[in-house]
Amino acid sequence: MKYNVIHRGDDISIQLMHRFHELIRQYGLIHEEASPDIVLSIGGDGTLLHAFHQYKDQLDHIAFTGIHTGRLGFYADWKPDEVELLAQLMGESANQNDLRAVKYPLVEIQITTAQGIETELALNEFTLKGVDATLVAQLHINDELLETFRGDGICISTPSGSTAYNKSLGGAIVHPSLDAIQIAEIASINNRVFRTLGSPILLPKHHHCDIYPRANQNILLSLDHLYMQRNDIISIRSLVAAGKKVKFARFRPFPFWSRVREAFIGYDMV
Ligand code: NAP
Repeated sequence: MKYNVIHRGDDISIQLMHRFHELIRQYGLIHEEASPDIVLSIGGDGTLLHAFHQYKDQLDHIAFTGIHTGRLGFYADWKPDEVELLAQLMGESANQNDLRAVKYPLVEIQITTAQGIETELALNEFTLKGVDATLVAQLHINDELLETFRGDGICISTPSGSTAYNKSLGGAIVHPSLDAIQIAEIASINNRVFRTLGSPILLPKHHHCDIYPRANQNILLSLDHLYMQRNDIISIRSLVAAGKKVKFARFRPFPFWSRVREAFIGYDMV
């Protein structure tokens, strides 16, 4: 079995990477960057987003796992002092050919321009914002107009991304076993003239959402940590990616709701 390590670049993450290489060698795993079976991210959830985008064309055979060298992560859920245990469990499951993994849904976006359709994937979310003016866009669900949006922007997140930007927008936290995407507004304008739904909405996997921005608008589009400015967009379709999921290697149980509690509530409750 082949593995690679992606790290955040800070001293602690680099030291941990060296330690992991030493530990995993005894189990016969081969270090390979081009086409690994397991990718270990050392840093934070942001580091895992980088790892995901580096390998998003190989999702069918790669399982990700992560050590967090900052606060507890949702994707990076191993602590630095557990590196020996992680190497042992990874090494043993690789040797027994028993790599267990959970699969989480992704959001796919299809960007239509005069040149054609570009398809992209996001692990956390995709956002659309105005650059130099309020975003004005029509939002259609399943080919029917829902509303004309005016405001800062629109965020469309995956279940595992629901604890990230979406949460700051008042979106619901969604268990990643649900094949759904969530649409959350970013500071919509609501008054007697302009009206939006105002509530986050969840779409099941057989639904889609199309956003039609006003023609020639300067738009800032983000896919996780990646940003691009565009003025050529005719429409963007978002949906649960069909047949494509991200795999996270599970060497021990760590339920999603326990991660939510540890990350946002903590243990020192009265
Ligand atoms: P960043 O601005 O440096 O960090 C954003 C924060 O979001 C970090 O603390 C990161 O955790 C955390 N995070 C990432 N994915 C998460 C998840 N699935 N659940 C809970 N927390 C998560 O940017 P970055 O590290 O490159 O990450 C890009 C992400 O930032 C975007 O995908 C978006 O979700 C998030 N973001 C949030 C806001 C907001 O909440 N207002 C605004 C813009 C972007 P680590 O510290 O463990 O890396």
